[in-house]
Amino acid sequence: MFKKKKTDDSRMRRYRFSLLLPAMLLLLSCQNPSAGTGQNRQAEESGENGASKSGELQVHFIDVGQSDASLILCEGHAMLFDTGENGTSPLLQFYLMEMGVEKLDYVIGSHPEADHIGGMDAILLKYDCGTVMLPEISPDTASYRDVQEAMERRGVTRVSPEPGEQYPLGGAFFTIIAPNRDYGENMNNASIGIKLVYGENAFIFTGDGEREAEEDMLKNGIPLNADVLQAGHHGSSDASTEAFVEAVSPRYAVISCGKDNAYGHPHRETLETFQEAGVEVFRTDLQGNIVALSDGRNLTWHFNPAPSWDEIYYVGNKSNGKLHVSTCLSLPKEWNQIIFSSREEAVRAGFSDLCGGCF
Ligand SMILES: [Zn+2]
Ligand SMILES: [Zn+2]
Repeated sequence: MFKKKKTDDSRMRRYRFSLLLPAMLLLLSCQNPSAGTGQNRQAEESGENGASKSGELQVHFIDVGQSDASLILCEGHAMLFDTGENGTSPLLQFYLMEMGVEKLDYVIGSHPEADHIGGMDAILLKYDCGTVMLPEISPDTASYRDVQEAMERRGVTRVSPEPGEQYPLGGAFFTIIAPNRDYGENMNNASIGIKLVYGENAFIFTGDGEREAEEDMLKNGIPLNADVLQAGHHGSSDASTEAFVEAVSPRYAVISCGKDNAYGHPHRETLETFQEAGVEVFRTDLQGNIVALSDGRNLTWHFNPAPSWDEIYYVGNKSNGKLHVSTCLSLPKEWNQIIFSSREEAVRAGFSDLCGGCF
């Protein structure tokens, strides 16, 4: 599912991703089995991807400001739970490129609000996406229309999963825990929730589900206990109720929110709830990209700096299909960009018409 990175891969030089833990980058870079070329596949079969076979789950809580995007990698398989907002779409794409993701088994939009599906259209247009999940609501918003259009262009139909359904991801699997009913106008409560399990480790994601959604998850009979809870609704006090936190009884909580955001997330009440329950809290507004590694028994935590790149790359305009060199003075707006590491990659994705002003 991931592109095998060779040591001579120019991308390694192009995107200087100064990981705090060079050893981790080493691990990640030899952990990217390919569904691609015969040459890569050969490398995979020859056991070069031993690290991925030895078994590891990676959960990346990507810092996309006041929005949500989590990349989950397991033994050569990949999924995205939420895709950030429109403006952070290039950042998300660079993060996936850096992680060597070439194909996604699942793309889940917890609910169709811009801070969760804003970056989804570019992901759908750029990557082969296996199963695309969205709850069964269709708001009349620009972000949602973009996602629908991208799905039509790629011939993808969405799945609206039901609680109790299970889906495999390498040696891990996830169970749908929400939404449990129709919540009318409240889109947050319609969020898809999942419990991701790898060996003895488990993670809960609930999107922006609020109190009512949490109450229904408590009632649906699926055990909620997990090591890690991604705090619902960016750490808002209308989620992470005491009863829910008690049922999950996490050791760690991760809050995805933007620095000095207008909502005051995370709310003081939420932080108090976690503190009283003895839960260690990580925050993307303070720590940036937060990565949990699991070997099926133990969890370790790492912090990746934002990807940075200083060499030429290519930018597709998803509205008009034009292609630009990254140095072009008339690049499309962030929400409209599809990022490619090479011109060949862009052409393969259908972006062959180079802009006249590019040099
Ligand atoms: Zn949100
Ligand atoms: Zn151009």
